[in-house]
Amino acid sequence: MLQLSKLRREYRSGDETIVALRDVDIDIHAGEMLAIVGASGSGKSTLMNILGCLDRPTSGSYRVAGVETGAMDADALAALRREHFGFIFQRYHLLGDLSAQANVEVPAVYAGRSRSARQDRARELLQSLGMGDRLLHRPGQLSGGQQQRVSIARALTNGGAVILADEPTGALDSQTGAEVLRILEQLHQEGHTIIIVTHDMSVAKHAQRIIQLADGVVTSDSRNDAVAQQRVERTMPQAQNGGTWTAIRDRFIEAVRMALLSMASHRLRTFLTMLGIIIGIASVVSVVALGEGSRQQILQNISALGTNTIDVYPGENFGDMRSGRVQTLRAEDAEALALQPYVDSVTPTISTQSTARFGNISANAQINGVGEQFFRVRGLQIAEGVFFERDSIFGLEQIAVIDQNTRKQFFGAADPAIGQVLLLGNVPVRVIGVTQARQGGFGNPDALNAWLPYTTVMARITGNPILRGITVRVADDASMEAAAAGLTRLLELRHGTKDFFISNTDEIRQTIEQTTRTMTLLVSAIALISLIVGGIGVMNIMLVSVTERTGEIGVRMAVGARQSDILQQFLIEAVLVCLIGGVLGVLLALVTGFAFGEFSEDFKMIISIGSIAAAFGCSTLIGVVFGFLPARNAARLDPVEALARL
Ligand code: ADP
Ligand code: MG
Repeated sequence: MLQLSKLRREYRSGDETIVALRDVDIDIHAGEMLAIVGASGSGKSTLMNILGCLDRPTSGSYRVAGVETGAMDADALAALRREHFGFIFQRYHLLGDLSAQANVEVPAVYAGRSRSARQDRARELLQSLGMGDRLLHRPGQLSGGQQQRVSIARALTNGGAVILADEPTGALDSQTGAEVLRILEQLHQEGHTIIIVTHDMSVAKHAQRIIQLADGVVTSDSRNDAVAQQRVERTMPQAQNGGTWTAIRDRFIEAVRMALLSMASHRLRTFLTMLGIIIGIASVVSVVALGEGSRQQILQNISALGTNTIDVYPGENFGDMRSGRVQTLRAEDAEALALQPYVDSVTPTISTQSTARFGNISANAQINGVGEQFFRVRGLQIAEGVFFERDSIFGLEQIAVIDQNTRKQFFGAADPAIGQVLLLGNVPVRVIGVTQARQGGFGNPDALNAWLPYTTVMARITGNPILRGITVRVADDASMEAAAAGLTRLLELRHGTKDFFISNTDEIRQTIEQTTRTMTLLVSAIALISLIVGGIGVMNIMLVSVTERTGEIGVRMAVGARQSDILQQFLIEAVLVCLIGGVLGVLLALVTGFAFGEFSEDFKMIISIGSIAAAFGCSTLIGVVFGFLPARNAARLDPVEALARL
């Protein structure tokens, strides 16, 4: 069944070449019980590793059931180990985080057996080895002999046609050692091929055939006539199907379970690793939410201003220092504009601050000189009384419409306001209307506003005929651009030069959206950098984790894990760390948003489902990207070297 011919294995250390095995020719038949003996350093373990397909010969041939192994890739060798071989190590090499039963199940997971089948199998095997009452104990809670029984059960999980035992009794006292040997003999009786490596002749005496090694050469290969020469032919078991969906899913679940176990056993370290991701995700999510919150707030304010108005101001732009000297923007311009077909309504505006007095109450108020169409332009609604008419403009009437703040300030909530006389500076005006309070809009929400005919303000308060601006409400069926162009042309004609500028709320909206976008992008970029730093932290810890668990990886490979299984396990661990970090990060952002929202009304965060989904996508991606290198390192480990680290 196993044929070695002209087999040679060399080790290279520095410039030296150590020949561990030379010209080894051995045929091993199915059902044999064989002992390989020799002094320490004679090459027994090397031979054992080659027999078990953990290692490859430097030259020569090794055939398993007639198939040459030399040309096989790592996964094909893993398949052979999984399906045909069972290893028993001197120091048991059980996975410390798993129970006895789970340890025994591991090879079956990689072989793609169903969950119930492998649990039954593991229980059955452990029971038959007298471990039925220790199924859920961890290796650390078991004695050496008990651990060795678990490792024997593990070797048998997938059939274990060939059992390779490297010094199986080496770490046990003589009595437990004898029990282990009895178990191996029993297995031999049942048809398993048993190969025991030992330096102890009293152990070797149990075998039918004894091969002696010295300095890598076979010095004797003899039958042991003290043992009955019985040979039970045993065919290789059918290869397990590891490719079905359930099998792939089971391996995935196993990988997730291992990742969780390893995270749970290093809680503080895992948390600190996550911290980078938590902070990164929390800042990205809250910055985006904050940007969205303020954008919506501003948009709401703008729409309160009306989206179809155009303001005309003197000067070149908002910052123009000379705009005060531009005297050409007159009420006549407003009259001319009112006649245009694209204009719905128009109002000149003048504004100034003044002290308002009523009885013994006085306060600073914003005095706005406006046309009769102002209320329509701005979409203001009346709560009490009336708005003023065109006649009041011509008549320079001393009347005012006030807002709710002003009403409350001077007349309280209950007293009648209409008909009362307010003193603005030293100009008495009669209140004829009160506007409804409105939501949003720019400016101080607590400011006191009074609207007077602009002619009255010019004549009685400012004393000059210059407007602060003209506000035009564009007709519903006209386009904003066409209206802006027409309006600019008309005023240019009237003034003979362009000494004014226009601003419409649509432009303001666009500018603000642009600004918030830029800000969000900028801060997100910074947050992204912190995410990348977090990712590097994850990579770093994963590399440490792989190094720490090299032995475990070796054991998994010995029982038949594919490279992809190992890759998957570590990749899943990295992704889980990032994903859990992402969840905590989103929670942190929510809590922060809520807490700040309690303190301040201006602070508005809008966390969308989209940004949460993006956060999870982002953290998964970081896990995959930064976990890949460590996971690949783990998957590419050489099984023998990995086992040597245990
Ligand atoms: P045994 O198991 O019989 O004690 P080994 O098979 O472990 O012997 O080793 C055989 C020889 O190969 C020894 O001389 C040992 O030093 C050498 N050897 C084993 N493994 C390595 C290795 N990874 N690198 C270099 N030399 C090795
Ligand atoms: Mg050895």
